[in-house]
Amino acid sequence: MQVLSVTPEIFPLIKTGGLADVTGALPLALAAKGVTMRTLIPGYPTVMGAFKKKKAVYQYPLLQGSKASVHAVQLAGLDLFVLDAPHLFDRPGGPYGNASGADWPDNWRRFAALSQVGADIAGGAISGYMPDIVHAHDWQSAMTLAYMRYGNAVGTPSMMTVHNLAFQGQFGAGIFGELGLPATAMALDGVEYYGGVGFLKAGLQAAWAITTVSPTYAQEIRSPEFGMGLDGLINMRASDLYGIVNGIDTAIWDPQADKLLVSNYAAATLEARRPNRAAVEDRFGLERDDSPIVCVVSRLTWQKGMDILAAVVDGIVAAGARLAVLGSGDAGLEGALLAAAARHRGRVGVVIGYDEGLSHVMQGGCDAIVVPSRFEPCGLTQLYGLRYGCVPVVARTGGLADTVIDANEAATAAGVATGFEFAPNNGGAMLHAIRRLVDAHSNPATWASIQRQGMKADVSWDRSAEKYVELYRLLLSKRAA
Ligand code: ADP
Repeated sequence: MQVLSVTPEIFPLIKTGGLADVTGALPLALAAKGVTMRTLIPGYPTVMGAFKKKKAVYQYPLLQGSKASVHAVQLAGLDLFVLDAPHLFDRPGGPYGNASGADWPDNWRRFAALSQVGADIAGGAISGYMPDIVHAHDWQSAMTLAYMRYGNAVGTPSMMTVHNLAFQGQFGAGIFGELGLPATAMALDGVEYYGGVGFLKAGLQAAWAITTVSPTYAQEIRSPEFGMGLDGLINMRASDLYGIVNGIDTAIWDPQADKLLVSNYAAATLEARRPNRAAVEDRFGLERDDSPIVCVVSRLTWQKGMDILAAVVDGIVAAGARLAVLGSGDAGLEGALLAAAARHRGRVGVVIGYDEGLSHVMQGGCDAIVVPSRFEPCGLTQLYGLRYGCVPVVARTGGLADTVIDANEAATAAGVATGFEFAPNNGGAMLHAIRRLVDAHSNPATWASIQRQGMKADVSWDRSAEKYVELYRLLLSKRAA
C-alpha cells in the first residue's frame, strides 16, 4: 500500500507543534506494517539545506507566480518529496511567518501551491509513482483534497487529519480566482466558507475520511463549544469521522535509557527517581521534604488552562503539594505564576522558557503533572507522564480523557487507575483532584500502584499506526466498491 502524506511540518526537519511529531513518526511505524508512506513537504530553507544532490522529478514552469520543482529525497529515514518553490518558501523565520511571528500575507498562496502539487502527484504527475491513498494534515495541506476532487484524482481515497480545529485557514473570497479551481468549487459544498474560502473546510468537505487525534476530541468537535464554527459540517460527515490517539517516541522517552535524566529507572526501581526529584528541587528552589511535587510543562496559554491553574496556586500549596512550572507564553500568565512563586518561596518554583532537557528531568522526578487544558486534541505531556511514573492530573477533555484512567475508588481497588481526572474544568475541581492526589500520595503502596499502572500503558506509535492501517484498508475497499 502506497500512501502520500502532505504536510507543512515533519519532525525532525521542521516543527512547530504536535503535527510534526505525528507526520514524522507515522511513516516509520507504518513501514513495519507493510505500508509505504511518502511525504510531500515545502522546501523551507532548513529542508533545502538538508540535502545535497538535487534532481527534480517534476518541474512547474509556473506555480503560484513563478517556477518550481519537486525533488525526491531520503532524509532522516523519511521518503520525501520536497517542493522547491523559492518565491514561496525560501524565507527566514518560521514556516508560517517572519522572525517576529507575523503570518506571511500570502500563506494562502503558499499552501494552495503545496496542495496543488499534492493533488498533481496523486494524479500521477511523477513517473513511476502512484499513491493508493492521500493523507492531508491540517489547513495547510487540506486543499490537496479539493484539488483532487475538482481535478483528475477524484477516484483516489483521501484522509484529512485535524490536529487542532482552532487553525482553519480562512481567507477572503478575492483569492478564489487565483486558486485555479473551477468556478463550481466556490460553493457551499466546495471551498466556500462564510462568503470566503476555507481551506480546512474544503478538506473536510472533500475527504473520504476525517480523523482527529483522539476519540473524545472527535466527538467534542461535533458540538458548538468545540466545533469552532465547523461543527455543522463535521456533524454532516459524522459517519466518516474517526479519532486515533497519537503515540509518543518510546525510544526518546524511555526512563530506562533517557540520557537527559540524572538517574534512570524502571517500574521495578521507582526509588531511583529520587536523584531526578532532587534535581527538580534544586532547579526550582523547592524545600526538600516528602510532599508530592506537582509539575506543569506547557505553553502558558488560555487553551492550556494556565489561568485556571494560576488562580489556585495558593490552594495547591495549602493542600500540601509543591508546584514546579516550566513554560512560556502569555506575559500576563508568566507574571501571575512568577508572583505566586515569590509568595510561596520553597513551595512553588517557576522557570520561564523552553527547556527540553529540564522537561525530561521533571517527568522523571516530579510526582505528578497537571494538564488543565480547556480543549486538548490529544496532548503529549500526559503520555510522557504515564511512561515516566509522573502521575497525570488532567481535565476530562479530548485526548486527556482518552489516555488517563481516574483513580476513583473502583479503579483504585481494581488496580487499573493511572491518574486523576477533573471536570468541569475550573479551579475548584482542579483543587479537589489535587487533594485526592495528595491523599493517595500519602499511601506509598497506592501511589506506586498508580505509577506502575501508568508505566504499563501502551503509549507507542505501534497501536495508533495499526488503526491508521485499518482505516486505509477501509478506504481502499470503498474505492473498489
Ligand atoms: P501543544 O502541542 O498543544 O503545545 P502537546 O502536549 O501536544 O501540546 O505538546 C507539547 C510539547 O511541547 C510536549 O512535548 C512538551 O513536553 C513540550 N513543551 C511545552 N512547553 C515546554 C517547555 N517550556 N519546555 C520544554 N518542553 C515544552
